[in-house]
Amino acid sequence: MRRISIFGATGSIGQNTIDLIARAPEDYDVVALTGAGNIEQLAKDAKRLRAEVAVTAHDHLLDDLRDALAGSGVVAQAGTDAITEAAARPADWIMSAIVGAAGLAPGVAALKQGTTLALANKESLVCAGSLMLETAKAHGARLLPVDSEHSAVFQALVGEEMTAVERVIITASGGAFRDWPIEDLANATLDQASSHPNWDMGQRITIDSASMFNKAMELIETREFFGVQPRQIEVLVHPESMIHAMVGFNDGALMAHVGPPDMRHAIGYALHWPARQALPVARLDLAAIGQLSFRAPCETRWPALRLAREVMETGGLAGAVFNAAKETALDEFIAGHIGFNEMAMIVEEVLAIITSTPGHIDATMTLDNVAKVDHLARQEAQRVIHNRAG
Ligand code: NAD
Ligand code: MG
Repeated sequence: MRRISIFGATGSIGQNTIDLIARAPEDYDVVALTGAGNIEQLAKDAKRLRAEVAVTAHDHLLDDLRDALAGSGVVAQAGTDAITEAAARPADWIMSAIVGAAGLAPGVAALKQGTTLALANKESLVCAGSLMLETAKAHGARLLPVDSEHSAVFQALVGEEMTAVERVIITASGGAFRDWPIEDLANATLDQASSHPNWDMGQRITIDSASMFNKAMELIETREFFGVQPRQIEVLVHPESMIHAMVGFNDGALMAHVGPPDMRHAIGYALHWPARQALPVARLDLAAIGQLSFRAPCETRWPALRLAREVMETGGLAGAVFNAAKETALDEFIAGHIGFNEMAMIVEEVLAIITSTPGHIDATMTLDNVAKVDHLARQEAQRVIHNRAG
């Protein structure tokens, strides 16, 4: 029996993970499941999977969670500290699938117990890549990628030497507005940005796919995960989302990972690694698909890609600023306070302000300093938004 925990269990990645676990309940002892507002789902899964503990991020929902779990034997807890504490409960495999910077502290706590951390929460690598990697090293923990592109790169690298790697190509579907005239983007609505052509994901990452902030974060994630230089990483628009990534070697070979757009593949690979096990995903019929297409990404359409390259160039805590400013801008877009294009403009402004003020970006990468600069970037983002409106 493997002891496993799922952080962000009620979300899209969390539910796909539970789908796989629930197919073989005899193989797993479920330790902790965490969620936020969806108490009904959290309690239902915690009871079904006989979890030791279920934790909601929201303190005020503790009584609701207790009521929903009454008589089940599952312990109910609430609050962000309780989530981080749950990450320290001994487990053999932990899924990190909280959305946003909120996934960082539990991720670090999980690594400190020397476990295997399946990482969907790309924000923790964007905000604090070296902290995550150093914590993993210091405690003998293992990080496995869950983002489809990074799982694909990881699989293409099996048996290869990193010294033979020339480049890493991550693909992007192009999101909801791939084929829109650029001048229409300013008026894109929340509904339009919240539908993805190929993947069924949480709302935030779906909007980040339309703006390419998702791919921008994945550029940084690629650099951190695989230790490649920014100039070695390319983004390729591939509307069909069948090839998830390619690794280019020094003999000219490109190893491509091809598969259906179903996150259960990457989750299942991380769950069973280093073995492969049968997974309930569709098998591709390439003859029926007929052709796959590719194009270069346009940085005028997607300024987020340029910003990610600037962040990698700046280094230090620039990733934490980038992520926090993006999260704030995304909240404001979802709330209907700013337009679609304004998200990138705000992130760019916040980055410029904070990187030009000494003492922030170059601070040591500790959880405290990441939290401080995250807070500052959110404040600056609000100020920039306020000034734009005024
Ligand atoms: P989602 O919005 O569907 O789910 C997010 C989960 O995080 C939920 O369980 C929610 O309750 C929890 N959560 C939200 N705010 C929280 C907070 N402040 N504290 C604690 N928990 C909180 O998101 P998702 O699409 O499942 O994405 C999860 C992560 O995986 C993200 O980092 C995303 O970028 C990454 N990812 C997702 C996909 C996908 O297909 N959905 C693919 C690749 C990577
Ligand atoms: Mg991805």
